[in-house]
Amino acid sequence: MTGTTDDPATGATLDVEALVARARAAAGPDGRAAVGTIADWETFPFEREGLRLRALEDPVVPEPPRQDEDASTCSRCAQDDARFAWTDDTWVLSAPRPVSVPTLVLGPRAHGDLGDLDDEAAGELGRMIVRVERALAAVPGVGRVHVHRWGDGNGHLHVFFFARPEGMVQLRGLVMPLWTHHLPALPDDEWDAVVASVVAALDAGTAPR
Ligand SMILES: [Zn+2]
Repeated sequence: MTGTTDDPATGATLDVEALVARARAAAGPDGRAAVGTIADWETFPFEREGLRLRALEDPVVPEPPRQDEDASTCSRCAQDDARFAWTDDTWVLSAPRPVSVPTLVLGPRAHGDLGDLDDEAAGELGRMIVRVERALAAVPGVGRVHVHRWGDGNGHLHVFFFARPEGMVQLRGLVMPLWTHHLPALPDDEWDAVVASVVAALDAGTAPR
């Protein structure tokens, strides 16, 4: 059965089989849902013409394992500090490359996912998210910093920060991660300088407003 195990305390459940059945019933004769109004958003990266949704697949339960689910084999736990742009005793900040817009990844040194954090670590994460956001938002040319945590790919908690370029209002909102796949890489020297600015702000303990 899929998603039909009631919470014994409240009876709450997400009935995934019913959800999928409703979606399929609402789909067109080819089994595909309509593209819908999202294609009319001025931020949507793709034009409506020729666009069609994939057919909805059956749920997979149990889900396939994520990467780095197990602390004993976790590649994130095993990374050397030299691989990170910034670290302290508890947190590590990665600055991957190439990136099309400034993209930083914050995670704890200790293995675990978001729900594994105790209250103290949860509070620290909140402060760290604000510090990284401020530091990246302070870089000239950054219009907004988007903060994301998905967690579907990797079991070691990691929070993404994407800098939306100032004035690129077409990249506003939830579609920006899609746009990042369709923009060329930042020049290394430009990205290095952005990272250095963020690191300097974090080392200073607070970022300028
Ligand atoms: Zn880990």
